[in-house]
Amino acid sequence: MPITLMPLPYADDALAPEISAETLQFHHGKHHKAYVDKANAATAGTDLETASVEDLIVAARSKGDKKLFNNAGQVWNHGFYWKSLSPTKTQPTGELAQAIDRDFGSLDALIAELASQGADHFASGWVWLAATDGKLAVVQTHDAETLADGVANPLLVVDLWEHAYYIDRRNDRAAYLKVVLNQVLNWDFAGERLAAGGAWTYPAEKVSEQA
Ligand code: FE
Repeated sequence: MPITLMPLPYADDALAPEISAETLQFHHGKHHKAYVDKANAATAGTDLETASVEDLIVAARSKGDKKLFNNAGQVWNHGFYWKSLSPTKTQPTGELAQAIDRDFGSLDALIAELASQGADHFASGWVWLAATDGKLAVVQTHDAETLADGVANPLLVVDLWEHAYYIDRRNDRAAYLKVVLNQVLNWDFAGERLAAGGAWTYPAEKVSEQA
């Protein structure tokens, strides 16, 4: 089976007003879908036709297939981004809260670091909270580059591509980062990822996760 467009884990208006339904409809229904369609078009009729998103990323990276890598990386990163957002306000707890205090001093300091690196990131990309060698770190990746197949364990990601905020915020990335980082980050998911100890798996089946 080819890879699928993972459903949003919430209704498309669930993150409003921080992220509008129109933004999510375009971002998920047009942008994320286009990456899925292009990855499937690139692998149709090849031995990668039924490969997982993770396997496509690894194969494309090793073959130097930039086009496939970009589309597969963007499929995975968007799935991880939807999971990184929550319609209900969450807070870091337990092991995650302790690790944030240990490595950043406070949650406010971590959010300030994510905001700063996210705002300073040149052009398109992603800003991540990740665990590496038992420490938390803020990491940036460019374009479709991903932490899906690396040594760092990604806990959260924020999309820095203009398509993530242009409808709601025009060119004001800092305003988008401010509301996303303070209001809708899914700290429960980050805690689960820290406890899991390895990278998240993009869903293989078109199963609705909506309650
Ligand atoms: Fe995006």
